[in-house]
Amino acid sequence: IQYRSSSNEDRLTVMLNRKQFLKTGFLGAIPLAGIGCTNVNKFTGSKPVVIATWNTAIKANEAAWKILENEGYALDAVEAGVRVEEDDPMNMSVGYGGRPDREGIVSLDACIMDDKGECGAVVFLQNYKNPISVARKVMEETPHIMLAGKGAQQFAKDQGFEEMDLLTPKAKEAWEKWLENGKYEPEVNIENHDTIGMLALDAEGRLSGACTTSGAAWKMHGRVGDSPLIGAGLFVDPEIGAACATRLGEEVVKTAGSALIVEMMRQGYSPEEACKIAVDRIISRNKRNGTSLKNTQVGYLALNKDGAFGAYSIQEGFTYAVYNADGNRKMDSEFRS
Ligand code: ASP
Repeated sequence: IQYRSSSNEDRLTVMLNRKQFLKTGFLGAIPLAGIGCTNVNKFTGSKPVVIATWNTAIKANEAAWKILENEGYALDAVEAGVRVEEDDPMNMSVGYGGRPDREGIVSLDACIMDDKGECGAVVFLQNYKNPISVARKVMEETPHIMLAGKGAQQFAKDQGFEEMDLLTPKAKEAWEKWLENGKYEPEVNIENHDTIGMLALDAEGRLSGACTTSGAAWKMHGRVGDSPLIGAGLFVDPEIGAACATRLGEEVVKTAGSALIVEMMRQGYSPEEACKIAVDRIISRNKRNGTSLKNTQVGYLALNKDGAFGAYSIQEGFTYAVYNADGNRKMDSEFRS
């Protein structure tokens, strides 16, 4: 069965596979707006627009919007936006003040991708609070795409970033409390503000994305999740759209989440539906293996080239913030279970 997407101006013909056909039935496959269309697109596109993970990103969106409303560059907007949370010691899952690993050491991961499909990343970075800006320097000043650990630190120093202790008294206290039991268990929506992933489309139609985190609290020393991995925590295809992820990074990496979402948008799915497909991919992988997702949360955000956006998560509780011509607001994502 073939049907046509209603989400993009340049409508794309996509194939509905047999499994979906059996699930939705013939009417479910008819692409007419309002008649059981599988292509959900609640939010029509406009530009400029910025979206970011978790409703606490309202402040970060403001910094990004200042650039976007003055016809600035989407890449500058996402960098400035996520830096707001990297700088905020009250946000305990990003940048300065992030929760440490089980040895009490804060290590940060970030990546950035621009409207030309260029990218940069740093992983296991210690003692520098703005990994997103170091990642941008990797993209712009080196022939590489990723620097890790000591090499990343040396590079940050050479680039003039200021070295500092990232472990705040509040994070140290939380770690000491955790040590009393020392159990590592993922929590579904821990404090409702984790990794910040931010996607922006500027007035000129340029797409960019940024993703930055201190990773899972109490992780093993050296653990790196999805957030700095292009294709997992973030992906931007300048011709199609962008996607990013938050929460349990291991599940995102195993299913190449953000790259999958962008490919689904390429096939004509709306941003929300593309996110749902990536969530379903995690669910079916775990079902096959008989593993439970009871305590697992993954949330995806997507933005297409028209400025339409959407989100989807495994469980209830994933929120995000959107700023476009309609203002800056908090949204609840759709969820699977
Ligand atoms: N996705 C991040 C990671 O796995 C953490 C998070 O968003 O909670 O490192």
